Amino acid sequence: DDAGVPGRVRVAVRLRPRNAEESVADADFADCVELQPEFKRLKLRRNNWDTDTYEFDEVLTEFASQKRVYEVVAKPVVESVLDGYNGTVMAYGQTGTGKTYTIGRLGEEDTADRGIIVRAMEDILADVSLETDSVSVSFLQLYMESLHDLLDPTNDNISIVEDPKSGDVSLPGATLVEIRDQQSFLELLRLGEAHRYAANTRLNTESSRSHALLMVHVKRSVKGRDLDHSSQNGNTTNMAKTLRPTLIRKAKLVIVDLAGSERIDKSGSEAHTLEEAKSINLSLSALGKCINALAENSAHVPVRDSKLTRLLRDSFGGTARTSLVITIGPSPRHRGETASTIMFGQRAM
Ligand code: ADP
Ligand code: MG
Repeated sequence: DDAGVPGRVRVAVRLRPRNAEESVADADFADCVELQPEFKRLKLRRNNWDTDTYEFDEVLTEFASQKRVYEVVAKPVVESVLDGYNGTVMAYGQTGTGKTYTIGRLGEEDTADRGIIVRAMEDILADVSLETDSVSVSFLQLYMESLHDLLDPTNDNISIVEDPKSGDVSLPGATLVEIRDQQSFLELLRLGEAHRYAANTRLNTESSRSHALLMVHVKRSVKGRDLDHSSQNGNTTNMAKTLRPTLIRKAKLVIVDLAGSERIDKSGSEAHTLEEAKSINLSLSALGKCINALAENSAHVPVRDSKLTRLLRDSFGGTARTSLVITIGPSPRHRGETASTIMFGQRAM
């Protein structure tokens, strides 16, 4: 299993169950895909007779639990963040196929429903020591190439600062809130969602037209003892132990609920729709180019083409772990969009 291997992008596909509308409207038709999870294969129907077969790192059927999805898509990345490496988890797909369900569901009525963000924070808080380590988060929306702070709505054009030497990305203008327990984290997520809703109402848009990014910064103090393998010979004195320095190890986890990948009808009545479509297309195609470059082990990852990829530049490639879940729906009426989502996922591998 190469779940923890840096560099390449791990790609899982998740199928949403039929919804009430599809159960009626598509009652006489087969799903546009057929999944073979035991072979990690997906068959996409071309017509009544032919299918095309694709392989993924993981194939998650409509029966896959949220827990299982977290374990295969995000847990290896979370574990590597706890070990000091940056990581990214992203959901890509057409609006209505389950990106937010997969990434952002809070699971307040039923904890079995909790999505990736909530489960990731649970694992992080369980592993760190709050006396010596710190966990802090920023929550942002990227809309039309402008970055908004979801924890402080007055902060609506945050700039991205890149360290030319290390390549590290920082957002000095973004609110950073220290998290000490899960309950206050959930409250913060609810606040961010409320701000997102208000901002999108004001901008006359929908959340599916923007990317939502949660950034989790984990700072741990690592005692010299944990780093020094020579102490295994048993000669270490107490004096030497106390003299060993404590190092700070930092890592960042970015969890992204991407904008809907569907083509927007260019005849849309809203004046800004075409501009939105161009902007989403720009950032998703820039993201696609970067993950293709990672898949091909190319030395040049073209991160400069969009704000989305500039934001992620220190969180994918190099020693960082990247995991992509592509979400699809079963309806034969959306076969075209499903095919294009599958191709995006295939190019990342
Ligand atoms: P997206 O964020 O991609 O637009 P959503 O996550 O909002 O899609 O999902 C659309 C609808 O489908 C929601 O009502 C959601 O609760 C439901 N849904 C999505 N995935 C699943 C799933 N795996 N099981 C049950 N319901 C789902
Ligand atoms: Mg959504």
